[in-house]
Amino acid sequence: MAGALGSADGDRSPGDALGRPLRDLRVSVTDRCNFRCVYCMPKEVFGRDFQFLQREELLTFEEITRLARVFVACGVRKIRVTGGEPLVRRNIERLIEQLAGIEGLRDLTMTTNGALLAPKARTLREVGLRRVTVSLDSLEDDVFKAMNDVDFPVARVLEGIEAAARAALTPVKVNMVVKRGVNDHSVLDMADHFRGTGHVLRFIEYMDVGMTNGWRLEEVVPAAEIVRSIDAVWPLELVEPNYRGEVAGRYRYRDGAGEIGAIASVTQPFCRDCTRARLSADGQLYTCLFASRGHDLRSLLRGGASDEEIAERLITIWTRRTDRHSELRTAETRPLPKVEMSRIGG
Ligand code: SF4
Repeated sequence: MAGALGSADGDRSPGDALGRPLRDLRVSVTDRCNFRCVYCMPKEVFGRDFQFLQREELLTFEEITRLARVFVACGVRKIRVTGGEPLVRRNIERLIEQLAGIEGLRDLTMTTNGALLAPKARTLREVGLRRVTVSLDSLEDDVFKAMNDVDFPVARVLEGIEAAARAALTPVKVNMVVKRGVNDHSVLDMADHFRGTGHVLRFIEYMDVGMTNGWRLEEVVPAAEIVRSIDAVWPLELVEPNYRGEVAGRYRYRDGAGEIGAIASVTQPFCRDCTRARLSADGQLYTCLFASRGHDLRSLLRGGASDEEIAERLITIWTRRTDRHSELRTAETRPLPKVEMSRIGG
């Protein structure tokens, strides 16, 4: 994709208004999911009558790949495929294969709830997926089923994680959203289970994403508290980030049993290094997880715009970006309506 749009190496990555480069793209391929996690898609809202995106509203795989190519020419180096639940989108392997072929892309990963992963892991690896992040909020079936709210058992997700490891979608990262009074008592069990496996368990502070999960600050368990509780049993040491903008704080077990991560968006905001853009399944560009509106790229695509014109639009949007919701969260006097996380991925 050298030439007009600039080579993948000599990228045109603009800095945003706070000097943050565009490096990561999260691509939501569907707003649907086979779970109803209470902190993301509560059943009361996302029930039988909920109007999900219709087929014709969704970007096709070819449209997603074309947009992704333009994003890479504008500086993106890592793409995370997400949803809703990406594995509910039919023939997702075809999209992964297309994305894996983009020159200049250095990392292609996926966030999944693992429910459909076991039978698909090997093929996803073969067509070019590099790694996976699997969500698992407890090892106790009753707790996990209460959180996913569709009675889905832990064992099936653990099968998906092991299948991913066998397929070399590694390192497998496991994300646990910790909610006080719901699954915070599961933290040490989870840590114990994943120690020595090579999988990286990451604890995520419960966030005020979207408008439907009834978020309350007192239900947040600060990452520092989680790390302290583990350190008291298995001593930890802090590890340098892999790269600027890495969301998880890294900690290593001093006894060599591996690594954990802590994503502290509420108590230790990391907006100053946020290099992430998000593309919704219907082609809207969001510049923050907590954004209240997106920028329509689908009309440009379907309206006959050239890649150059799309790149110009993308750069205009990014260079004007000032988002830092997590840093402003508590100071906000008139919170704006926020897009649902299930529309843009975590
Ligand atoms: S709140 Fe927005 S700007 Fe801050 S880290 Fe999250 S996505 Fe980035």
